Amino acid sequence: MDSSKVALVTGGSRGIGAEIALRLAQDGADVALTYVAGERAAHEVVAKIEAMGRRGVAIRADAADAGATVAAVERAAAVLGRLDILVNNVGIGVLGPLDELSPDAVDRVLDINVRSVFLTSQAAAARLGRGGRIITIGSCMAQRVPGPGGTLYAMSKAALTGLTKALARELGGRGVTANIVHPGPIDTDMNPADGPYAEAQSAMTALGRYGTAGEVAAMVGYLAGDEASYVTGAEFSVDGGHAA
Ligand code: NDP
Repeated sequence: MDSSKVALVTGGSRGIGAEIALRLAQDGADVALTYVAGERAAHEVVAKIEAMGRRGVAIRADAADAGATVAAVERAAAVLGRLDILVNNVGIGVLGPLDELSPDAVDRVLDINVRSVFLTSQAAAARLGRGGRIITIGSCMAQRVPGPGGTLYAMSKAALTGLTKALARELGGRGVTANIVHPGPIDTDMNPADGPYAEAQSAMTALGRYGTAGEVAAMVGYLAGDEASYVTGAEFSVDGGHAA
């Protein structure tokens, strides 16, 4: 990767986002990351980025807040001087029976999982030049819902596939690509591999196990790099065969 590239990873203080931030730094990018509560964790990721000889910056920006979401893009570009790669990673998992999902829960999930991704992509697109990348983290639930309880979460993640394809069409003429990565069950705070539903989720994969955040970050690293220059508007499963 061209060592002058700058990336922004939303929700980069823990889990999949933290691994993506470290992977992009390892590949030669300077990296800004957002968080909402995990200030210490965010600064620990930045320290690791700096230990690799790259610049890092942690930005507190609640994805539920439209103004903060857009301001984070502006701040990342201002502090690091430009923007080449956006990774829309932030997301929350709210699962439950259809009749128990309140209007407030619907609003919160759509604000964080969908509206923030749209607004972040819109603000980033205005700054991305030729070779720019928008990579969005969806979910295996956007492709296959293996049981009840996923209406709200699956709806929010499926919306990102539509956004990604439309972004590819909108930005292709400028040489900017947009792709979406659908993780399967990945061992993070959101979905621990020793959690109550872990065994059932492992059984739904072809490989019979959880994935690691690093396995998702590897796909994002490829899509962010120069080798993926002809890849756009596409969906990539990193799900151990969950959708197979
Ligand atoms: P985690 O809950 O482990 O980490 C979430 C990250 O997002 C943290 O850095 C957290 O920051 C940040 N974050 C959460 N809410 C907000 C907010 N309102 N504003 C800003 N930042 C926020 O999640 P995962 O790493 O597991 O998931 C990452 C993405 O992958 C999500 O989009 C998720 O839907 C998707 N995914 C995950 C799967 C899994 O099995 N783990 C499977 C399929 C998709 P802070 O430290 O400040 O709380």
